[in-house]
Amino acid sequence: IITLAIESSCDETSVSVLENGRTVLSNVISSQIEQHQKFGGVVPEVASRKHIENINQVIEDALREADISFDGLSHVAVTHGPGLVGALLVGLSAAKAIAYAREIPLNAVNHIEGHIYANFIEHPTLEPPFICLIVSGGHTHLVHMTDYGQYEVLGRTRDDAAGEAFDKIARALGLGYPGGPIIDQLAREGNAQAINFPRAYLEVGSLDFSFSGLKSSVLNYINSEKMKGHEIVLADVAASFQQAVVDVLVEKVIRCALDKGAAQIVLAGGVAANSGLRRDLTKACEEKGINLKYPSLELCTDNAAMIGCVGYYNYIRGLESNLDINAISNLKIGE
Ligand code: ATP
Ligand code: MG
Ligand code: FE
Repeated sequence: IITLAIESSCDETSVSVLENGRTVLSNVISSQIEQHQKFGGVVPEVASRKHIENINQVIEDALREADISFDGLSHVAVTHGPGLVGALLVGLSAAKAIAYAREIPLNAVNHIEGHIYANFIEHPTLEPPFICLIVSGGHTHLVHMTDYGQYEVLGRTRDDAAGEAFDKIARALGLGYPGGPIIDQLAREGNAQAINFPRAYLEVGSLDFSFSGLKSSVLNYINSEKMKGHEIVLADVAASFQQAVVDVLVEKVIRCALDKGAAQIVLAGGVAANSGLRRDLTKACEEKGINLKYPSLELCTDNAAMIGCVGYYNYIRGLESNLDINAISNLKIGE
């Protein structure tokens, strides 16, 4: 089964061709980061326009790299949410056009499921059940994935997403966009114990997250140090902030796995690329005898291969989307 997959939910135009869902024949990612950098974040109108300019070329490149023609495709998978509605519509329209013209099935996919499935591509023998911590630019979820397409959401953020916190702090420190990789890099040279930022564990037993208090606390620290005329050691702020995020993520995902008696933990989303999170969670999992999996850096952030993998598993279960399916900017997982 050959899948053509399209992803355009945010600022990456990506197209992938996969064989039987887990073998990637091509995964072309055209990033718009440069276009958005001067604004310090993604500008939705600019994103939609860039997707329109890029999409046909990226489709062509992905087919050529995979050495497959439109005739060789079994079905088309595409992200239809969550994300920026104008951006989603570009990929969705292209996918519908291909499905209609070639008379092949369409599988509309949830982007957050895609982040989880990046692990199925990275780890060919991985199977559910497992506990998944999804930490991306717009989402922070603790999910018990019991089978393909079956999710029990056990915790979620009540305010900012983990990636959003990284991006906002980087912006406040004048470090640029996207903030996660920059803070990660800077944190390596800093002292994570230098500043004691708060950890929001919330009520006893809660598996929810909250990062807005931490964000305020970092912003207050920066402002008050400036007022006092102190020089701010950026690397120490980055390391201390990152440690506060990582401590909470690690504590909650481990407790969740122990509660559920889960033998495996899987990391997903852009923040799964964070070196501090990978290091501390690896150590905690070793101590508890839990198996940990995460995707390679390229598969952590947005790409179409992960979308194709979800589309494949939906397709073999007999699921198919109608051609009138719409983009849903706040599409939920597990509901
Ligand atoms: P969503 O998937 O929730 O719709 P998104 O697609 O914008 O949001 P992703 O592509 O999953 O998000 O990830 C991008 C996010 O990951 C950004 O917030 C970025 O700062 C963060 N990120 C990337 N690399 C790192 C890193 N090494 N450390 C921390 N955060 C990182
Ligand atoms: Mg992106
Ligand atoms: Fe994403």
